[in-house]
Amino acid sequence: MRRLLLLALLGLCVFGAWAVLTVVSGTSDRHSAIGTGGGACDPSPEDFDAIAAALGDGYGRTQAEHAVTIYRTAAGRDLPERAGVIAIATAMQESAVRVLANPAVPGSLDLPHDGQGQDHDSVGLFQQRPHWGDLADLMDPATSTTLFLDALEDVAGWEDLPLAVAAQRVQVSAFPDAYAKHEPNALAAADRIAAIACGWVHPVAGFGVNSGWRTSERPRHNGVDLAAPRGTEILAAAAGEVVTVVCNAHNGVGRQLSCDVDGSPEIAGCGWYVEVAHAEGLLTRYCHMGTRPAVSVGDQVQPGTLLGYVGSSGRSSGPHLHLEVHTSHHADFDTAIEPVAAFEAKGVQL
Ligand SMILES: [Zn+2]
Repeated sequence: MRRLLLLALLGLCVFGAWAVLTVVSGTSDRHSAIGTGGGACDPSPEDFDAIAAALGDGYGRTQAEHAVTIYRTAAGRDLPERAGVIAIATAMQESAVRVLANPAVPGSLDLPHDGQGQDHDSVGLFQQRPHWGDLADLMDPATSTTLFLDALEDVAGWEDLPLAVAAQRVQVSAFPDAYAKHEPNALAAADRIAAIACGWVHPVAGFGVNSGWRTSERPRHNGVDLAAPRGTEILAAAAGEVVTVVCNAHNGVGRQLSCDVDGSPEIAGCGWYVEVAHAEGLLTRYCHMGTRPAVSVGDQVQPGTLLGYVGSSGRSSGPHLHLEVHTSHHADFDTAIEPVAAFEAKGVQL
């Protein structure tokens, strides 16, 4: 018992420190979103719908959110996916993946909950009893999952046991066979959670490069031009924060020009443009939008968030997306890197 508690505490400390680190670094790695309650890999509404559908009839958004928490808590400990599947199946059986308060447990009704249960003095997603830990931890999706996983890891050879046996060893349930029937749906939900898009996306999918980075003809061309027609949606390449939304167009004597009209090769400036600051100190810049961008400075964006529409404002000879990648959140000539290679490193072919 003491050992379990110690393990749980240690787990929480490591988990907590790691979550803080994640917030500070803002990394876009999938596992890093665990416990941050936001950040790089937030599932979309469509993701939640698909996860709820995978869980089965009667499951909705709240249960899908808990399933994500359960799965990512397991993934954050570098456990095999099966740990997440076992935990989700167990929560399906114990609570239908709801945080259940219990009128027999003083205080549980005062904590956030999705419904009430009446089973002895059990509470939470996993129907854990008071000896498992503090009430607040048992009623919290992430910490109750941590306690479940602590106990699961204590089961010798849990990876190779049938799901029902592993779950039964942890839960000491009166109905051991009840867990098995949830395995297919728990597995489907886990697969759906694992597939949540967290990486980089093509900002104008389907349109390739028609002018390269710092060619001999254009040695100061700090990006690539993507041959997308006017009006094409420009999508944020990765999660991050919008740090710049500007009209930058001026003539030879520095007079500001409109970005709501087509520019020309004779004027200077990027036109309507947006910069998004990403994890790892990276920044992407999207130029020549035809109208005021769809985002504002300070907006948090996900991969695929609409930033604006392709146009030809600023120094431009025709509609296209000029795309830059920088290794600093304060972009200048020296921080620009070659976008095709930069996107390739993130698994995206420009
Ligand atoms: Zn360009």
